[in-house]
Amino acid sequence: MKRNWLKPDWQPELIIPNIPIEHLLIKGIKALVLDVDGTLIPSHEIVLHESVILWIKKAKRNFALHLLSNNPSRRRIENISQQLDINFTFRAAKPTKSALTRVLDQLNEEPKNIAILGDRLFTDILVGNRLGLYTVLVHPLGANGNPCKNKRTQHIEQIIAKLLGVSHT
Ligand SMILES: [Mg+2]
Repeated sequence: MKRNWLKPDWQPELIIPNIPIEHLLIKGIKALVLDVDGTLIPSHEIVLHESVILWIKKAKRNFALHLLSNNPSRRRIENISQQLDINFTFRAAKPTKSALTRVLDQLNEEPKNIAILGDRLFTDILVGNRLGLYTVLVHPLGANGNPCKNKRTQHIEQIIAKLLGVSHT
């Protein structure tokens, strides 16, 4: 196997509004697949932070975008997609490949030119690596557009990935 499936291509330790779009452009990225809960918005909130909206506005000038969420609530993910005017997929069942495969068909770009940005190793990064995307592990977003201080889930995932011997940290 060429790559470790639980190793992100890039782990900048930044929340999404602080991700430099230039880095993605230099990598030849043409489209972004974005996780929702924990990546664009804390899972208990319903209104996107201004900094996220601004980042998406800038991203739209450079990339095709799609929201890919495991959340089973169409209402929640549709509401967030409407705030951003981006197509969405809910109940995506990451890390299984079927939903992301459908999105790749729509985006019509080489997988290596598509980045997936998410806050979870075992869903976002794993499915992205399985399908050959450029995988970016972001710091989870907390209240008021700040980095989430409680990264318990992410810590547990890093520990398991390390135990499996496939993490780079
Ligand atoms: Mg998430």
